[in-house]
Amino acid sequence: MPPDRASQPRGDPGEGPPRVAVLLPLPLAGAYDYAVPDGLAVGPGDYVVVPLGGARHVGVVWGAAEGAVDPRRLRPIERRFDAPPMPEAHRRFLERVAAYTVSPLGAVLRLSLGATAALDPAPPALLHRRSPLPVPPDLRMTPARLRVLEVLEGAPARPVVEIAREAGVGTGVVRGLLDAGLVEAVPVAGDRPPPEPDASSPGPVLSAEQAAAAADLAAQVADRRAGTVLLDGVTGSGKTEVYFEAIAACLRAGRQALVMVPEIALTGQWLDRFRRRFGAPPVEWHSEVSPGDRRRAWRWVATGAAKVVVGARSALFLPYADLGLIIVDEEHDGAFKQEDGVIYHGRDMAVLRGHLAGLPVVLASATPSLESVVNVEAGRYRMLHLPARHGGASLPEIRMIDLRRDRPERQRWMAPTLVRAVGETLAAGEQTLLFLNRRGYAPLTLCRACGHRLECPSCTAWLVEHRLAGRLQCHHCGYSTGLPRQCPACGEADTLAACGPGVERLAEEVAARFPTARVELVASDTLSGPRAIQALVDRVDRHEVDILIGTQVVAKGHHFPMLTLVGVVDADLGLHGGDLRAGERTFQLLSQVAGRAGRAERPGVVYVQTLDPAHPVMAALARGDRDGFLAAEAAGRRRAHMPPFARLAALILSSPSAPDVERAAAMLARAAPAEPDVQILGPAPAPLAVLRGRHRRRFLVNAPRQAPLQAILRDWLARVRLPGSVRCQVDVDPYGFL
Ligand code: ADP
Ligand code: ZN
Repeated sequence: MPPDRASQPRGDPGEGPPRVAVLLPLPLAGAYDYAVPDGLAVGPGDYVVVPLGGARHVGVVWGAAEGAVDPRRLRPIERRFDAPPMPEAHRRFLERVAAYTVSPLGAVLRLSLGATAALDPAPPALLHRRSPLPVPPDLRMTPARLRVLEVLEGAPARPVVEIAREAGVGTGVVRGLLDAGLVEAVPVAGDRPPPEPDASSPGPVLSAEQAAAAADLAAQVADRRAGTVLLDGVTGSGKTEVYFEAIAACLRAGRQALVMVPEIALTGQWLDRFRRRFGAPPVEWHSEVSPGDRRRAWRWVATGAAKVVVGARSALFLPYADLGLIIVDEEHDGAFKQEDGVIYHGRDMAVLRGHLAGLPVVLASATPSLESVVNVEAGRYRMLHLPARHGGASLPEIRMIDLRRDRPERQRWMAPTLVRAVGETLAAGEQTLLFLNRRGYAPLTLCRACGHRLECPSCTAWLVEHRLAGRLQCHHCGYSTGLPRQCPACGEADTLAACGPGVERLAEEVAARFPTARVELVASDTLSGPRAIQALVDRVDRHEVDILIGTQVVAKGHHFPMLTLVGVVDADLGLHGGDLRAGERTFQLLSQVAGRAGRAERPGVVYVQTLDPAHPVMAALARGDRDGFLAAEAAGRRRAHMPPFARLAALILSSPSAPDVERAAAMLARAAPAEPDVQILGPAPAPLAVLRGRHRRRFLVNAPRQAPLQAILRDWLARVRLPGSVRCQVDVDPYGFL
């Protein structure tokens, strides 16, 4: 551990070399002072290399030194990178994120240093073009060489591989012409800018409502007016077309636009649409981007060359040179919440970023979060509403199947009504989606002889059988093991039985019932990344699939014209477990799944299998009454003093040692703040009492909206010194309660 500031000997700030404070991407509270060597010019925001302990780190010059360190102990900055300094607005943003999330500033800085290789400019590259030399008469001209010369005629300089690819020859042919002097090399700076999206290319003719919403957003972007706007409209109402107009306005203003999407929803379909509209692809930023592309993307963002970035929540932390617009698509989606390290909500931090820099922020959704709806009602956000599906396509009809009456057979999961509907859809040559939000074959494996349940050795969780992979897996820590023949508890052979369905088991049932149907199974473990999802979408579009079976991967944004039936196999799955937002989340997810049916001219039907059709979520779904549902949900939360009408924060203590975590919990409990109106629940064993071998205890802090929650948490944590083995995570505005 580095010494903290207080333990560094004090020196006279007036003496010694010039110094600056450098922030490092480490979980430290603040920046450290470093000496600026002679001849090195550094300013705020510059990326530098500094020594710390025995290691070197990349850091960012954060501002003037505090001057507390003895100048003889001050170590020098080793080098400065040739990269655009991190803008002031971005540095202030990181400070606010640290303050809001009660995280060390250095840990937040790390989110912005996702591609340190990008800090050095790329080495110059050589591009090739036709030289002015005429073809010498003695040169042997093969057909391959002729093709290369044809391709080069009047074309700009390009890399050899590109020329070879276009001419359909090996690179050796191009090099041969280079040796012969017919091709010449031109050195260029290594970072060629990406092709620029063209704002002037026209979009589709918008409906009156779409045009009004688009003009409103475009004006806000052009006028650089701050403010958050909720773009609310059913699936297919044209929200994407509308926010494309806001992007076009941002491009015309010469500024950068960021589109944040839940990672999984970034499909090739979206990218294709963007490319068709703007004539060039956006710059992508998410976990699937290769290191080379990350390097380029980071640099393009920092230099301002990237005009439109589309990415997961982490894209918000890129150091934009001149951000002019943020769009958060599917703003209600839980995937915007980062649950490790710095725990933050990407949507909320986007709103904060917009607020700090005076930018428009657009939140788009067909099922907005209660938070956003309440912010509209309170006048903090504006709302733009798109009332209808484009082209008059009708919304699907939603029918409940009461599983207590319309009962599946034993060890089957589809009710007779649903089976009939799938059969009819197949006969009509149309497609079906069966939705079950559970990966694997069965969520529980149990011994029929002794009742033993197979559990993860490091988590309080059952092992999930994945029959296709022939493994039992823990969905919390990734532990995996072969399926034993004997019960590990009683030793009996062949007594282990699968309980309950996952998508693999449902696929088995479908194959047995519809042996000639072409069935495809999709779950996040069988399909990952935008490209794989796109390949699947293409197969469904070409009608190579009759029945698609999937988890929530298939719930997002894809559009299948021939899909007319959706069956929700277990609608009650997300409703239990004591989660504050269980009802809201279920409503959103099921509405989204239902939105897959009948988007084109064909009307769709959605069957929802439930044990409780009278549950408010199911009743609202059946009535298509989103606003009624939200109003009831809001009233319930207000009564219970829960978000968004009050504030929550969780403290999660964890340690490999159970006694240590107990002790830490007791210490925190004793030091708990005694503020009026602030309620502290816990310490309670977390529902996931053991995770990855760490024992866990939780506190939940419930405070009124206007309470200084972060200050209360900070003071509380500052009063205790936790045992070294204990980690304490702070989760402000928790979305997970495990
Ligand atoms: P949302 O984002 O609200 O789900 P989209 O913008 O994806 O809606 O629109 C749904 C479909 O309708 C897309 O295929 C889109 O291209 C098409 N669409 C929407 N508005 C128009 C329009 N004004 N003219 C032509 N096609 C449109
Ligand atoms: Zn586990």
